[in-house]
Amino acid sequence: MNAVDEAIDLLLRAGAERYGDEDVSQLAHALQCAHQAEREGADGALVAAALLHDIGHLVGDGDEGLAERGIDAMHERIGADWVAARFSGAVAEPVRLHVDAKRYLCTREDGYFARLSPASVRSLAVQGGPYSEVEADGFAARPHAGDAVRLRRWDEAAKDPGALTPGLEHYRPLLQAHLRDG
Ligand code: FE
Repeated sequence: MNAVDEAIDLLLRAGAERYGDEDVSQLAHALQCAHQAEREGADGALVAAALLHDIGHLVGDGDEGLAERGIDAMHERIGADWVAARFSGAVAEPVRLHVDAKRYLCTREDGYFARLSPASVRSLAVQGGPYSEVEADGFAARPHAGDAVRLRRWDEAAKDPGALTPGLEHYRPLLQAHLRDG
């Protein structure tokens, strides 16, 4: 199976699974996130990152319920490594930083923490909580930090049970275009 089929297959098979405590499935969450990236004119790599940003929840045995038990499954690292083995760095790195971006925004943006969903507040605790000012500076200086912050905002907004989006096949050419060795 090539990497594009593999990614699509994972998202489809996981489509029925709930996204943590949210009211949308993993597949709907991924599609909504990618759709928002597209609507805001993000480049193809970042749209692909938005689509694949939570793939770390879907590879291996899955990590359902771990955050509730106080365990950080590090889905961003697992996901980014999975993506990096198959797609370009511009796709993988925003995936890697999308949890750090939450810790950053909690520190640097007034009102951001207050808008987080209850599930996202719970996972923040096991992810290390808001950054210190020094950590926030360190994050902002990293390559792809800006893309990760954009991805994070789409992520937070991609939990709408009623949202209409294109289907997965819409993203096949875009994934194809950003294969690592493509
Ligand atoms: Fe997400």
